[in-house]
Amino acid sequence: MKIETIAVHAGLEADPTTGAVQPPIHLSTTFSRDTKGELTSEFIYSRSGNPTRRSLEKCLAALEGAAECATFSSGMAAANAVFQALEPGAHVILSDGYYGTGKMLMDVFSRWTVECSVVDTSDIAAFRGAIRKNTALVWIESPTNPMIRVTDLAEVSALAHAAGAKVVCDNTVPTAILQRPLDHGCDLSMYSATKFLSGHGDVLGGALVSKTNDEFFERIRMIQTSAGAVPSPFECWLTLRGIRTLPYRVRAHSENAMKVAAYLEDHPAIAGVNYPGLPGNWHHAVAKKQMTMFGGLLSIHMKGGRDAAMQLASRVRLFTRATSLGGTESLIEHRASVEAPPARTPEDLLRLSIGLEHPDDLIEDLKQALA
Ligand code: PLP
Repeated sequence: MKIETIAVHAGLEADPTTGAVQPPIHLSTTFSRDTKGELTSEFIYSRSGNPTRRSLEKCLAALEGAAECATFSSGMAAANAVFQALEPGAHVILSDGYYGTGKMLMDVFSRWTVECSVVDTSDIAAFRGAIRKNTALVWIESPTNPMIRVTDLAEVSALAHAAGAKVVCDNTVPTAILQRPLDHGCDLSMYSATKFLSGHGDVLGGALVSKTNDEFFERIRMIQTSAGAVPSPFECWLTLRGIRTLPYRVRAHSENAMKVAAYLEDHPAIAGVNYPGLPGNWHHAVAKKQMTMFGGLLSIHMKGGRDAAMQLASRVRLFTRATSLGGTESLIEHRASVEAPPARTPEDLLRLSIGLEHPDDLIEDLKQALA
């Protein structure tokens, strides 16, 4: 089936007791046994499993043609479960993407002797050079937040597997609609469901989608249910509701972003636009190979540096000046001042999450703010 059909139907089962086409939100924390003490369903207690969460997990696994999925209370809780599944002393290679992932590895996992190298994985030579004997995990983010760099998933996965490492792709920005990392050799896809998946800026959530139900994933499942960073049934339901329209939303985000990027590329106040949909972009060829469209996130460098970036962020009227991405409304952010110091992100950079407004209105807003 096509992805639109999977997004609508996966994990959707009419409620057997009422016939309700849209299943209820199962708030119950516990599930009954019969007179013999046998369970009456697969569920025991909601930390270990909940029907609404299971529907979401089935849906996410189906979107990627995956064997399994585990959902979490945030994207970082999902990432945490992967790192906790490693052996102490393991080495992780991490794309230079979302700063929070590297920060967690440094703040939390360095004390457990997990080593980390932050590398531009779009640079294959740099990636090769970072591989060590104890490299157990390669964490790709593609495209990265906020520099919008694209890594060749197939090439890096092949090199990582040859070195005996597992490969996770943070697929938060493109989602399964634009990029299916497991099809390109990755072992797991990771999501901040907070972003495009739920899509309306009202959910915190995370997910790990696994190609196989292997020992590594079983460990992740054990961490999910034992450590208990699970999403609430309401958040699972909201995320599922968001996924039903995901293909159409993500394509509209991408179309809008493409138009905004093309406008900004030609503006005299802008030094550069990071968006792989632009034919002149350094990452365009690799992005075209593994993505169907280029997503709703872009960043720009201002000719006037930090001051010009701050000025633009303060002058926009339709864009909201706030962190995060992937919601219906467009957001703008001076990234370096939000990241924990020392920020890697350049001071002249603004990150734009392009929403579902009409692109003409977004461009008009940027035009007046840049005037
Ligand atoms: N991965 C990426 C690419 C992100 O942008 C974010 C958050 O901004 C995360 C992971 C973390 O997700 P969460 O905020 O849901 O914990």
